[in-house]
Amino acid sequence: MGCHACASICPKSCISMESDKEGFLYPNVDYNLCIRCKQCINVCPIINKEEVMNDPVAYSCINNDETIRLDSSSGGIFTLVAENVIDRDGAVFGASFNDQSEVVHVFVETKENLEQLRGSKYVQSKIGNSYKKAKEFLDSGREVLFTGTPCQIAGLKSYLEKLYTNLSTMDIVCHGVPSPDVWHKYVEFRETEAGSLAQRIAFRRKDEGWKRFSVSFLFKNNTEYRQNLRNDLFMRAFLKDVCLRPACYDCKYKGLNRQSDLTLADFWGVQNILPEMDDDKGTSLIFVNSEMGQRLFNEVKDKMLYQEVDINEAVKYNSAAIKSVKYNPKRDGFMAEKESLPFDKLVAKYCNEPLQRRIRNKVRSGIKKILVKTKLINIVNSARK
Ligand SMILES: Cc1cc2nc3c(=O)[nH]c(=O)nc-3n(C[C@H](O)[C@H](O)[C@H](O)COP(=O)(O)OP(=O)(O)OC[C@H]3O[C@@H](n4cnc5c(N)ncnc54)[C@H](O)[C@@H]3O)c2cc1C
Repeated sequence: MGCHACASICPKSCISMESDKEGFLYPNVDYNLCIRCKQCINVCPIINKEEVMNDPVAYSCINNDETIRLDSSSGGIFTLVAENVIDRDGAVFGASFNDQSEVVHVFVETKENLEQLRGSKYVQSKIGNSYKKAKEFLDSGREVLFTGTPCQIAGLKSYLEKLYTNLSTMDIVCHGVPSPDVWHKYVEFRETEAGSLAQRIAFRRKDEGWKRFSVSFLFKNNTEYRQNLRNDLFMRAFLKDVCLRPACYDCKYKGLNRQSDLTLADFWGVQNILPEMDDDKGTSLIFVNSEMGQRLFNEVKDKMLYQEVDINEAVKYNSAAIKSVKYNPKRDGFMAEKESLPFDKLVAKYCNEPLQRRIRNKVRSGIKKILVKTKLINIVNSARK
């Protein structure tokens, strides 16, 4: 899964995380230095998967702070929880862009810097030395909130080897993580088109609404690229499942028995379950998985609008919570040609809807337009009478 637990625990530092040809990191052991202590094997969260049994409670949530909510992917709950930890002089770990537009795990210690972690980045984040740093803070008695994908949380807990009362964890419902190499190719493609380097990237702008979010690049030459999820080339490849990490097609961390204290998700389907909590600006679905999670939730609940929901009902609209995406047979071709084809041609070749479906969608939207027109004409005619 690329979690870095083995590389972080190795007492001889003889495990390095190296990129394969698809751009995903895997451990590589230098057997000249290895002392066969097997610590790497003992902390591997796949080899020693810990089963947890909890009884999660789900909530629909909206942060009262509209500015933070609009800057977040769903209801802006990550920031609320993280701010409280920082108020207690804690450190918050999560995914951020670095200067090369790569996605990496970092820690922040001030509320202002939480902005770096806010918002989903649809790329596998590199853990680097974050587990080691988190352990250092924990051992010194400092509070830590570690956030990431479910497998990154499992990797951290396995690496730590013991329970810390000053640690809290928050995972996300995860569709799967795209290749950092494919992302890099896409950034290069956009920068070439713009004739300038990217300065700020956001995957989830809500200008056209939360459900129809847009990807945006602000370039150093002050131009902007913005396109909604259906038309953005990278989002099309992501949602067609042609560039996810191989392990994501058989994820071992799906389900409702999670290792984290809190789980964050988009409350897709909120319009059907709790329409009064849907204004298309972003609603979060939260699972409170543990006593620690309940404590974190209780601390912030006065700063949000929330309502308990039936967890089984809620995940009906969010299958990523409980099952892996299906392997797309086109993935092999997409990955094999990612270096040789320009990004737009690559996506056109492997991510277009089949002709039949495109025709069906066109016919459907044509019929819809005619129905709306007929309805309007009827309204005008009856008003004239
Ligand atoms: C790769 C990926 C796939 C996702 N798939 C789904 C899905 O299928 N269904 C669903 O309901 N929700 C999914 N989410 C979660 C969702 O997009 C929101 O992140 C979540 O609802 C939290 O929103 P928020 O408004 O509370 O906070 P935000 O401020 O939007 O969230 C910030 C949090 O996300 C973490 N984060 C951002 N990017 C990454 C990353 N690359 N790796 C690890 N952690 C990251 C940050 O560390 C921080 O904890 C996914 C997120 C990611 C990153």
